[in-house]
Amino acid sequence: MIDTKPHSGSLFMVVAPSGAGKSTLVNALLAQEPEIKLSISFTTRPPRPGEQHGREYYFTTVEDFLQRRESGEFLESAEVHGNYYGTSRLLIEQAMAIGTDVLLEIDWQGAQQVRKQFPHAVGVFILPPSIAALEERLKKRGQDDHLVITRRILAAGGEIAHAPEFEYVIINQEFATALSELTAIVKATRCRFAQQAARNTYLFAQLGIHANAS
Ligand code: GDP
Ligand code: ADP
Ligand code: 5GP
Repeated sequence: MIDTKPHSGSLFMVVAPSGAGKSTLVNALLAQEPEIKLSISFTTRPPRPGEQHGREYYFTTVEDFLQRRESGEFLESAEVHGNYYGTSRLLIEQAMAIGTDVLLEIDWQGAQQVRKQFPHAVGVFILPPSIAALEERLKKRGQDDHLVITRRILAAGGEIAHAPEFEYVIINQEFATALSELTAIVKATRCRFAQQAARNTYLFAQLGIHANAS
């Protein structure tokens, strides 16, 4: 079903090739804007050192994942770098229904699926300053083995080719600049007429503003 209802909350999709700095940027954004709800995805990827079930991901088996997908539990799902990833439909729909801003950290395939159901979702693509920087960041992060890093670097070009499908692009060269750009996108989205009207119905009525926005 396509959801075009007016909501006071917005749905953000942050997409990037592995190592571009997506999770670091999103975590810094959430520290500043704690009312945004981060969707915790299901994945069949094994946890990295320090990752916790229910914090970074709900880690699960291929069998369990496919069962959940079969029963329609996922808003979107995709195979990325040889693992399955999926977003819980229930969590997103509940949050949107009460006007909470929701942020999805997903890949471009998932973003295409979400866009079909939420045409007003806001897409942000994070670019690295170069492929060499991407490789260096993945190595420095030191959480994936050599083969996994090679696989991710090889996939980066194909992922970056989908950047034109997004409304916003951030080049994560200087971290502070990239973070302020991401924050600006969130703040501007909250000021869209429809969001303001949905959030301030009483004031808008008092001021005689009659929204006929779609
Ligand atoms: P990362 O690249 O360091 O963030 O490594 P991860 O293994 O955590 O994620 C690998 C890829 O899967 C990234 O492109 C993520 O954006 C993507 N991903 C994570 N969760 C989901 C999800 O729920 N759905 C989809 N479609 N992709 C996801
Ligand atoms: P992703 O979630 O896109 O795979 P991460 O957020 O894990 O990427 O970032 C990959 C690595 O790059 C991390 O070690 C992170 O600290 C580092 N990093 C992120 N942004 C920058 C930046 N602007 N300059 C240098 N290193 C960065
Ligand atoms: P706009 O075209 O101005 O971006 O938004 C038009 C309408 O879509 C507004 O009513 C707005 O609240 C709503 N909207 C914006 N983002 C989303 C979203 O992600 N999901 C849904 N269901 N509605 C949204």
